[in-house]
Parts: sequence; C-alpha cells; structure tokens
Amino acid sequence: MKAIVFHKRGGLENLKYADVPMPQVGARDALIKIRACGLNHLDIFTREGSHGVHAPLPHIGGLEPAGEIAELGSDVRDWRVGDRVLVGSAITCGACEFCARGSDNLCTRRKVIGVNIPGGFAEYICVPASILLPIPDAMSFVDAAASPTAFGTAWHMLVSRAAIAGGEWVLIHAAGSNVGVAGIQVAKHFGARVIATASTAEKLAKAKELGADFVINYVENNFQHAVMQITDNRGVDVVFEHVGTTTWERSIAALHPTGRLVTCGSTTGRWGNTDIWSVFFKQISILGSFAFSSAEMRAVWQLVAQKIFNPVIDRAFPLAETAAAQKYLQDRKQFGKVVVVN
Ligand SMILES: [Zn+2]
Repeated sequence: MKAIVFHKRGGLENLKYADVPMPQVGARDALIKIRACGLNHLDIFTREGSHGVHAPLPHIGGLEPAGEIAELGSDVRDWRVGDRVLVGSAITCGACEFCARGSDNLCTRRKVIGVNIPGGFAEYICVPASILLPIPDAMSFVDAAASPTAFGTAWHMLVSRAAIAGGEWVLIHAAGSNVGVAGIQVAKHFGARVIATASTAEKLAKAKELGADFVINYVENNFQHAVMQITDNRGVDVVFEHVGTTTWERSIAALHPTGRLVTCGSTTGRWGNTDIWSVFFKQISILGSFAFSSAEMRAVWQLVAQKIFNPVIDRAFPLAETAAAQKYLQDRKQFGKVVVVN
C-alpha cells in the first residue's frame, strides 16, 4: 500500500510517499481503507521529534483516520465489511489505575494512533475493532476525520476540567486553531459568554459566525486589556489556554477572582511566568488537561453526529501531498481543519 512514511526525524523533506507492507490483521482487528485523515500540530512534532515526542522509526503519522472496513479479524462480531468508521485516537490497556477509574486518557500504556503506532497518512490502517466509532450516513469522511481531537480535547478542558457553567465568561485563544473552533462551540453549548481571539479580521469574522459574542485581534490589541474593556474590568471566569509562553502571564491576569485557567498545550513554548500573588489573592485555579477519555469521546461523538458540534474544514489535500498539508498547518494559514484524503 501507499503511505507517507519517514525514516528520519526532522524537516518536511523526510516525508516520503512510498510503498509499505500491508498491515497484518489479527483476530480482534479491523483493517480500514482510509478515506480521510485529520492533521494536527502533533503530527508536526512527531515528524520533528520535538516537544518530547519520539515515535518509533520508520513511522507513519496521522491521528484521525476515517474510512471503510475492508477486512475483519475472526473474533470481531460487532462490525461488517463496508461499515463507515472513525478510528478512535488511542489504544489503552484497560487494566491500569487510570483505566480502572475511567481516566484512560492517562493510561500508563496508552498508544496513540499516528504517534506510538502507525497512523492514518496511508491507504490502510489496522487497529483493534474495539476502538472504532460508527460514522452516520449523513456525515462525510472528511467531517468525521476533522472532529475527534478538536472536540474531544475542548470537551475535556471545558466540561471535565473547568466545569463550565451557563452565563460564565470564557476567553478562547486562537479561534482559528482546531481546538479553538471546538472550544467556541462547546462553550456556547453550555451557555457561556465567549470572547475569542484571532490574528486577522477574516478569522475574527469566522469566530463570530461560530458563536463568539466578542472578538479580539491579538496582533493589533493587547488581549488582556481588551478582555477587561469587554467585561467592564471584571475579567473572565475561564481562560481556554493552548498557546503557552506568549499568552500565559496575561491569561492569568485576565481572570476574575475564583476563575480557572485550563491548558491543553503550549504551542509557543513551555515556560511562562506565574504571578503567585494573583493565584492566591484571586483564589484562581490552574488546571492541566490532557487529551480525552474514550467515554468522553463517545459522548462528544453523539453531539457531532447530531450536528450540534460542527467541524470547520479549511482545506483538503491528497494523501500524496501530506508534506504540503503539514507546511500549510505549520504556517498557521488555516481557519479550522486541514485534512488529507484518499
Ligand atoms: Zn491503562
């Protein structure tokens, strides 16, 4: 089969469109003919070997494959060849302390599709059938492949970690990012008042279309001051952080007393100053958020299937042009999701 494979970590030039062996289908596995696969910054980190990500080599990236079942292992009963499926993002052990308490996003033996094991930038993928989710007839493969990471991550941040409530003020950073697009929709679903930031007028207009009540151009304005103006010097109840170094200190300063900062990433860098005084004087909480559990994924998937949450697709590239797709994402040109299609 054809796949985008890299034998060495580093730049885009390492991504090769090449023939690789077909995966072997075990008794509990499903072989999926991939039709679409979502792109994430994690694909770039995996290819570079940056941000502490060290995939085995050679490697095929791609966290979010969607397609049709082409073959089933002898023990699989719940699925049929031809079923349209989304590949869940990770394989977990089901036995460790975290799996036992339903937090399998923290499973000590967790294997992430496209990071620890071969992913979706290929014609086929073989995974345990237990991690598949059905794609409704009315949903395209592209929309399916664009949904799980963004909505699962945003849900875990806002619902499970920050316990968002109706009427609260929420600041969503980088509305054009995958997780930003999802964050706006999840926050609005729970009746929050959303302030979103983005770098261009075009992206701000799209953020408003998604439901943001107020928008801030963070290139032209200091977002912290703009938040204070919008909220009449009150500050926000929740900051949805994934930017890191460049926003961290001001994100904390933008919080109302008893507010929560929830973070799932640090795209611009891992270190930030924390004003400890404001942490205790304002009694704020800093919450870490890592991925999402399989139970959360199933809950979110219902809402995506009902079109309550809607992915935003920026652009689809053919599989052979995955390097160009990663470059496009790296240059931050997109609003919403970039996908590759087969
Ligand atoms: Zn486990």
